[in-house]
Amino acid sequence: MTELKLENVSYRYKNSEQQALSNVYCKFSGGSVTSIVGPSGSGKTTLLSIMAGLDKPLSGQVLIDGESLSTLDLDKYRRERVSMIFQAFHLFPLLTALENVCFSMEINGIAKKDAKIRGAKILESVGINAEKHKRYPSNLSGGEQQRVAIARALSSGARLLLADEPTGSLDSTNGEAVISILRRLAHEEGYCVVVVTHNLKVAETSDVIYHMSDGAIIHQKA
Ligand code: ADP
Ligand code: MG
Repeated sequence: MTELKLENVSYRYKNSEQQALSNVYCKFSGGSVTSIVGPSGSGKTTLLSIMAGLDKPLSGQVLIDGESLSTLDLDKYRRERVSMIFQAFHLFPLLTALENVCFSMEINGIAKKDAKIRGAKILESVGINAEKHKRYPSNLSGGEQQRVAIARALSSGARLLLADEPTGSLDSTNGEAVISILRRLAHEEGYCVVVVTHNLKVAETSDVIYHMSDGAIIHQKA
């Protein structure tokens, strides 16, 4: 199963003097949900973007299944091995639910017809039934939009799912439903799920919790 490790990772934004991450060591494993909690500005989003290969560490290294990201083709890594889910869903507004899910499959060269069949199955698996596949995001509830975003994240076959405040825009019922989907993906299907959250209830249901403060992990609960 997928394992992502950060070893002594530091990061500083170009226009900033302060380190956004300093000497971070942590590990994320397939089959489990790891939460990252901490006050605003503590480095949670920065940590996710380093893990997603969107930013490169200033020092230290990120290893996926033992291989350093610095030795990999990062475009390919981002396309095939890691997916992100956001607080504000970030669905394409002019594409239907199904088209949102099929989009990356088609970019990855899967025939339109096959992408549609697979996309529909993935949508069903997160509780979006056929009647809703042709709806545009604006005609879906927040909870439904986040399920579509999860389906889209699954469509590339990536085993590492990074979620930045995935329940932040949802009421508690829909938030719990989204978290229970992420838990099932980790526990039953072996995905490596990482959730940044302000919600302590969400954190408590995860397998590992990292607490961040000032760019460092200050406490870990396994
Ligand atoms: P969190 O997600 O925990 O709220 P961030 O990772 O967004 O924290 O931010 C960590 C630190 O990096 C903060 O001090 C923030 O101000 C700074 N930061 C974030 N993004 C940028 C950016 N694009 N340019 C400069 N500084 C940034
Ligand atoms: Mg953030």
